[in-house]
This record gives sequence, structure tokens and C-alpha cells, in this order.
Amino acid sequence: MQTPKLAVTIPCYNEELCIEPTCRRLLEVLKDLETRNKISVESYLYPVDDGSNDKTWEIIEKLHKELPNKIKGLKFIKNYGNQSALTAGLEGVRELGCDCVISIDADLQQDENAIEKFVEEFCNGNDVVLGVRKDRNTDSFFKKTTAVMFYKLMALLGTKIPMNHSDYRLVSYKALKLMEQYHEKALFLRGFFFDLGLKTTRVQFDVKPRKQGKSKFNFWSLLTLALNGITSFSIVPLRLIAGLGFLMAIISFLVGLETLFEKIFLNDSPNGMATMIILLCFFGGLQIFCSGVIGEYIGQVYLEVKARPRYIKEKELV
Ligand code: UDP
Ligand code: MG
Repeated sequence: MQTPKLAVTIPCYNEELCIEPTCRRLLEVLKDLETRNKISVESYLYPVDDGSNDKTWEIIEKLHKELPNKIKGLKFIKNYGNQSALTAGLEGVRELGCDCVISIDADLQQDENAIEKFVEEFCNGNDVVLGVRKDRNTDSFFKKTTAVMFYKLMALLGTKIPMNHSDYRLVSYKALKLMEQYHEKALFLRGFFFDLGLKTTRVQFDVKPRKQGKSKFNFWSLLTLALNGITSFSIVPLRLIAGLGFLMAIISFLVGLETLFEKIFLNDSPNGMATMIILLCFFGGLQIFCSGVIGEYIGQVYLEVKARPRYIKEKELV
């Protein structure tokens, strides 16, 4: 097999302190791999400026002028968030051409030396190589706990996402082409590539503390990401409502029976009380159950609206 042409995409939001050292370091890594004939000399970097309001884009432009073949790039008109920047990076390199692409953060917290292992796994025939962090020692207690809760919840909801996989991953051109068939706006990339069905493997890497600038994620953006992850892969929460409604209906039926029994045989409740309780339970249960039924339809609409491909053929004999 020929040496693969590797693209590296880097989402950046207000990273004027990091972006130049990061690009230079990544170029060193590419150079090293090129001289050892592991990747093609046409490999390049593709930073995506997510609407920064500092000097990030000027720096990317300067680097591009200096090394037009090695550094390309894209700038958003405003800040759309890290998932959009990552998606744009993947779509951009698909247009520009590459055999595989790696996404990595602009602060280079993810160990860039693992890139070689990613490429090796790609050459071994894997289409998706997921970077999995060895530990979470550099994370705050809060981030660690919420991350674990998130993965547990996702597992509970039946969504497969790999534990401790950040957005450091390699995907092949084939995976990028398949991504074209998924038209949904909110593509949760971590789950998406894992769920795609292509040959997938993992590579472990170390996480370093951020050297320059500060984290762009706060509680709310993490919560949004988590909710997006859940709602874009699972309709289990909607099913839960239907289940709850059904349960309530049964309970209200039993409570109704019990009240009726008291009224007829014990006659110890004030007038009208039995009717009230029965009606209350009946309508409460009925309403939640009906919401659940509506939820089932909304679930169907939601799956249809996403217009995911019904199936993807792997091979065919004709
Ligand atoms: N990022 C982005 N858009 C945003 C927020 C973050 O493109 O709205 C980029 C950021 O520049 C970095 C990556 O996403 O390259 C990860 O962000 P950060 O390092 O701040 O997150 P953390 O490592 O703290 O989770
Ligand atoms: Mg970071």
C-alpha cells in the first residue's frame, strides 16, 4: 500500500496563544513521519477557526503564507461550537482530499506522539481509530465525576459510546464519504463513528495539562454536549414516559379498586372523596400514558427527520 496522505484538523476558538506552537509541533510530527515513509509528503494541517475574536485567524493566515502546502484552514463567521468546527474540519479535508484524517485539540493536551500509532492502525486496515485517554488525572474532580456519570447514563440508555474517548481520533476517507449520507444537523461525532459499523480500533494516549490559555468548556456547554449526545442517539427517554404512564395507569386502577372497596364495604370515607380519588388517578395515568403514545410518534418523526441511510452495503456480488 502507498503511504497514506494524512490530514490533521484542529478546531480552535480563541487560541492565539496555542495555535502557532501547536501547528509547528504537529508539522514536526508530520515531517518525522514523512521522512520515515509512514505518511505521504502531501500530508497537511487544517485548522478550523470557530469564529474567534482574537488573533487566531491572523496567525493561521500567516502560517499558510509561509507554508501554503502544509497549512490550510477555514474560518467560521461566528462561534458555532466545537462539534461544528470538528464536523467542518472533516468535511473540509474530504473536499481537499486525504486518505485519513485525525482531529486533535488546539491546546495539544492530547499526546501528539500517538499520531504514529493512529496511522499504523489505519495501515492495518482500520477505518476508525479512537483515541482513548489512559487516565483522567489532569481533569478537575467535577469534570471527572460528570464524565463518568455521562458514560454510565449513555450506557443505560442503550447508546454505545466508547468510555473516555475524546474527539482525538482518526477516520478514513471511506468513513468521511459515509458521513456525507447522514444529513442530520446535530451529529454527535463520538457516538457516530463508533456506531458506523466500520472496522474500528482504539489507541491509548496520555493527556497533558493545558499549557496556554484556558478551557473553552464550562458546565453549560458540557451539559449541552451531553444532552445532544443522548437525544441524537436514543429515544429511550421518550419510551420511559410511555412506560411511566402505563405504570401510573395500573397504580391508579389499583388505588381506584381500593377506594371503591373502602366506600362499599367499610363506608368510612366522606361523600365524594372516592369519586375524586378515582378520577384523579384515572386522568393522571391516562394523561401520562397519552403523552407516552405521542412520544412514540415523536420518536418516529425524529428518526425520519434525521434521514439516516437505511443501510450501508459493505460488499455485493453481482
Ligand atoms: N473549541 C472550539 N469551539 C468552541 C470551544 C472549543 O473550536 O466553542 C476548541 C478549542 O479551541 C480546543 C478544543 O475545542 O481546540 C477543545 O477545547 P478545550 O481545550 O477548551 O476543552 P477541554 O480540553 O478543556 O475539554
Ligand atoms: Mg483542552
